[in-house]
Amino acid sequence: MAASKPVAPETATGGAPLEKVALETYVPPAKPSLIGLTRAEISERLATIGIPREQQRMRVQQLWHWMYVRGVQTFAEMTSVSKDLRAELEKHVTVDRPEVVAEQISSDGTRKWLLRLPSGHDLEKPHEVECVYIPETDRGTLCVSSQVGCTLNCSFCHTGTQRLVRNLTAGEIVGQIMVARDRLNDWADRETPHGNRLVTNIVMMGMGEPLYNFDAVRDGLLIVADNEGIGISKRRITLSTSGVVPNIVRAGEEIGVMLAISLHAVRDELRNELVPLNRKYPIAELMQACRDYPAASNAKRITFEYVMLKGVNDSLDDAKRLVKLLKGIHAKINLIPFNPWPGTRYECSDWDQIEKFSEYVFNAGYSSPVRTPRGRDILAACGQLKSETEKLSARERQALRAMAMTD
Ligand code: SAH
Ligand code: SF4
Repeated sequence: MAASKPVAPETATGGAPLEKVALETYVPPAKPSLIGLTRAEISERLATIGIPREQQRMRVQQLWHWMYVRGVQTFAEMTSVSKDLRAELEKHVTVDRPEVVAEQISSDGTRKWLLRLPSGHDLEKPHEVECVYIPETDRGTLCVSSQVGCTLNCSFCHTGTQRLVRNLTAGEIVGQIMVARDRLNDWADRETPHGNRLVTNIVMMGMGEPLYNFDAVRDGLLIVADNEGIGISKRRITLSTSGVVPNIVRAGEEIGVMLAISLHAVRDELRNELVPLNRKYPIAELMQACRDYPAASNAKRITFEYVMLKGVNDSLDDAKRLVKLLKGIHAKINLIPFNPWPGTRYECSDWDQIEKFSEYVFNAGYSSPVRTPRGRDILAACGQLKSETEKLSARERQALRAMAMTD
């Protein structure tokens, strides 16, 4: 697995820094995990341990099935693989996922896992990221992280304030889904009346900017969508971006999952402040990238996330401009109640104002799930996930629900 490269810093013209420098690199464990490798990469590994070329394809198929359909955690359980090969594999590689250091289960079924990932420095404590499972009657959504921290500095986002940043590997991205399936007992041999899975949807809305970790996110999501393995359809996977314009079209072409855009403001002046990346890729360019998004069609709407900040972006005039801006784009609007964190200068909009805003966009023809009964569907942000073991508050759970309603 390639080491993730630090993200280059951006020079900004005035205002808060647009980006900070990534401080960490990935240091692979002595025995690397096969999780997250493409089929071709697994083949290469097999070649290095002496598996003849003519056998490699079949062996990869076997391993793939055991890893991603059955979810086994050791080679010993792979009973269709010869004993000798299992012993050989054990010497060199693992099927390890990230280590789970804490699990919280809320009364409404929401589960949060704190995962420990190796850091680049022996003296630093290991990194931690969170992954959250949000069950609903018609789906179970997993909110997945793409980086430890984030190099971007959105002013309302807690993740943006974290000092440490490193890209997750494809294995660490796929590993989050595997951990959820392990903990929920959600692999293929689980006994359910209809064989229904619990984890049905994925949102890349945890920590990090997925389009700044393009290759690992692409490789990881293609594994998650592979129908000979985990098999979660691309229509049930949503990638959320703060607007990395050049990589939006690439994401459509190379990944093909559903897209969510963290818009949050309809005028460049305000968006520059809330999402400083807007100084590099302003709203007009972002909208054009959405129009060009290859997967955008009637059947595949783009979700526009809009965090409700009291007195900042929540006026009816903002709602009107939002509707105008989205004209011609097959869009859905997710209003996210702001989830405050210690030290933030923002407040969440009043409920009445959220309702008024929501009613306006609804009447203009945009579904906006914050309208559905209070307490059930108020979508919330996973972007606020932080590496602390504190319990998810009712507010956070509401916010997570809101964010999970992507289709
Ligand atoms: N970096 C990506 C994905 C992770 S953030 C992005 O920005 O899209 C996922 C979502 O959570 C984004 O829409 C983000 O703007 C939102 N978010 C971040 N902090 C939040 C907070 N404190 N309250 C509500 N939403 C928040
Ligand atoms: Fe990064 Fe997204 Fe938070 Fe912005 S909102 S700082 S892009 S995680």
